[in-house]
Amino acid sequence: MRGRISASLHMRSALESPVRLKFWGTRGSIAVPGPETLRYGGNTTCVELRADGEIIVLDAGSGIRPLGVALQKEFQAQPIKLSLLITHAHWDHIQGFPFFKTGYDSNNQIRIFGFDGAGATFREIMTEPMRAPFFPITMRELSAKMDINKLTEMKFSLGKVDVHAAFVNHPGMCAGYRLFTSAGSVAFLPDHEPYEFFLHAAAEKQLPPDQSKEIAADEHTRLVQFLRGSEVLVLDSQYTDQEYQTHIGWGHGSVSSAVSLALEAEVRTLLLFHHDPSHDDKMVDTMVESARELVAKSGKLLEVAGAQQGREILLETKNVAAA
Ligand SMILES: [Zn+2]
Ligand SMILES: [Zn+2]
Repeated sequence: MRGRISASLHMRSALESPVRLKFWGTRGSIAVPGPETLRYGGNTTCVELRADGEIIVLDAGSGIRPLGVALQKEFQAQPIKLSLLITHAHWDHIQGFPFFKTGYDSNNQIRIFGFDGAGATFREIMTEPMRAPFFPITMRELSAKMDINKLTEMKFSLGKVDVHAAFVNHPGMCAGYRLFTSAGSVAFLPDHEPYEFFLHAAAEKQLPPDQSKEIAADEHTRLVQFLRGSEVLVLDSQYTDQEYQTHIGWGHGSVSSAVSLALEAEVRTLLLFHHDPSHDDKMVDTMVESARELVAKSGKLLEVAGAQQGREILLETKNVAAA
């Protein structure tokens, strides 16, 4: 069952594909290198999308370090222009940035985009971790041309790629992005807890039950609409269903919540993401299998795989003639 992928999605080598997604970091919370995480990877969140002439990097966890090394190798003395989209300020999504080689070359241009966080502006989110006493080099000392852009709109464009943003259910402010490429759209929700959370919150006091039900239903519907018909959905599925029961309110999803959201939104391929630091490769395999069983039971079509560090997915331009 492993490696199963739909007819329009294939794993290919680096330079063949016009639109492709590569995983440089798939882990949630903290990096966990070692023999037990070799296949799914130990680095924290970083995904690269090459589409329609753009290099778009999604989050800057520890996986952005090897991405910088690879870009340097690929481009050599040629200038690199890229956009970096940040979902939120948690360490596992920004901590790799000071080690991103691309930022240390004056030929390069990096545009960084994200929303203000809870209690910090987007500029502060990106620059404060690179100040004494936390780090010896400040953001201003990096030699690449760096633009930090606070997002205020939920729809914008990076070259020919249209980007839609949505706020998701995660402590503080956290965005998800959907990127519309010439070969279909990729939705990226690395950290998100299902809106059922509001029902638990009601049971435990904070909100009146009717109000909670309404908020949960409205927010869920909004998210399904946001994701509807995505070619690829990269989604937080950190916990098994059993683990989720003791992590309600922590801001992360479970296998069954990820599958049901993907089925409801009629996405083509679901990639389980933000692997828990305590889950070794075998555990993630088990979670992928249980996700596939849930899909089989539903009788609907949905490809499921676990996002693997170093793995690349090619999105092929749809064959219009076949439609
Ligand atoms: Zn995270
Ligand atoms: Zn987070």
